[in-house]
Amino acid sequence: MESRDYLFKVLVIGNGHVGKTSLVDRYVNDKFNKHYKITVGGQERFTSMTRIYYKEASGCIIMFDVTDSSSFRSCSSWKEDLDSKVTLAGGSPLPCILLANKCDLSPWEVSHASIEQFSKANGFIGWMETSVKDNKNINEAISFLVEKMMVNRQDVPRPEQDGGRIQVDCPAKEANQKGCC
Ligand code: GDP
Ligand code: MG
Repeated sequence: MESRDYLFKVLVIGNGHVGKTSLVDRYVNDKFNKHYKITVGGQERFTSMTRIYYKEASGCIIMFDVTDSSSFRSCSSWKEDLDSKVTLAGGSPLPCILLANKCDLSPWEVSHASIEQFSKANGFIGWMETSVKDNKNINEAISFLVEKMMVNRQDVPRPEQDGGRIQVDCPAKEANQKGCC
């Protein structure tokens, strides 16, 4: 069978300090560093992004920190900003996964029920609790997003999306599977 490579632009957005840089470093380099430099002038809160940043993206990851409820509250603004500035060619929203990061920490300031409800109400393809630190659900989350982007890439009808929690207790996936990019 012929194999092909695809290149996708994936946005990673969310408030400052939620783990965006860590996520990219974990996924791309399989590393975790406790001492990332805080970007000077970096945004701790929601501010709308320029359209140029969103241009030609195929998918999006919106992250918050489970120990910081304000980072969770900002996710609705991040999602609205995204959907108002970029859509797929056919006009539907970009597939976007919600990551409840730092699940290794406690106490959580956000309940599972409120994340579930928020994910469904705001058109996410689903949500997962992740720990970039412990490498929990990172490959699973990105593989799930890649699957959705592949569906759009091949221009076939999109499956039903209920925005619910994604079950990842499927052992069939290879441990180090990486979607692409
Ligand atoms: P960004 O501002 O969103 O890019 O966040 P960073 O990637 O710079 O991470 C902010 C801080 O959170 C850093 O000290 C990271 O080491 C830490 N961090 C990121 N992900 C996790 C996680 O899953 N668990 C824990 N305990 N700390 C994390
Ligand atoms: Mg960063």
